[in-house]
Amino acid sequence: MSEDIILSTSGLTKEFAGFTAVNGVDLSVKRGTIHALIGPNGAGKTTCFNLLTKFLAPTRGSIVYNGRDITRQKPAEIARLGLVRSFQISAVFPQLSVMNNVRIALQRKRGDSFDFWRSEEVLRSLDKEALALVEAVGLSAFADLPAVELSYGRKRALEIATTLALDPEMLLLDEPMAGMGREDIDRIATLIRKVSKNRTILMVEHNLSVVASLSDRITVLARGQVLAEGDYATVSKDPRVVEAYIGS
Ligand code: ADP
Repeated sequence: MSEDIILSTSGLTKEFAGFTAVNGVDLSVKRGTIHALIGPNGAGKTTCFNLLTKFLAPTRGSIVYNGRDITRQKPAEIARLGLVRSFQISAVFPQLSVMNNVRIALQRKRGDSFDFWRSEEVLRSLDKEALALVEAVGLSAFADLPAVELSYGRKRALEIATTLALDPEMLLLDEPMAGMGREDIDRIATLIRKVSKNRTILMVEHNLSVVASLSDRITVLARGQVLAEGDYATVSKDPRVVEAYIGS
């Protein structure tokens, strides 16, 4: 397999009580790209995503990450390998400030427990790192605000910061724009672009204008199978894709 491919699936299949939700999907995600998984309702996107993030076990097929077969590995194990799902793994503590949420995520990465006996030096380096992450996601002005008081979009930015604290090589984003207004969408899109500079991103996203502006490559699923693949200009003109969306 090419060095360029960070994540791939082969014949990935998931059956639920005789119903095949994902049916022989071959997917290749190139290192350093933003790759989107799209398709009409019921196409199998969520199931596929849950297979990739190990929340579901496949009926058949395999998943390879960085040359390693991860088909049977658990979410925590793949997170240690650098493949991290955002929004689920990194819970935000609503009553804690933005800074403290990021501090905790950093401590979790380091495997630290909470204790009051750490050195000033360790605390200072932790604060510096936390502040850099808070800045990176555009939340400096809200650093001391309890997470619960953030707008929806800013809460998601905080979730991205706590995910980035784990320093993932590849991020899996499940509908990053769901439930967002225009302003938040623009903010998160800018953030995803920034974060993608030295990472690979695979996202499931319904908002096609977001997909068009962010993605390097798109895989279109329909009825559990890959219907088309390519850049947005190519797949959006594909008559099978147009028909699948109109017919859904
Ligand atoms: P999408 O995310 O593209 O809308 P899903 O992956 O959620 O599609 O669902 C694909 C198909 O699999 C749908 O027909 C859905 O009803 C079915 N499905 C999903 N999860 C289950 C389940 N746990 N049991 C039975 N059928 C399921």
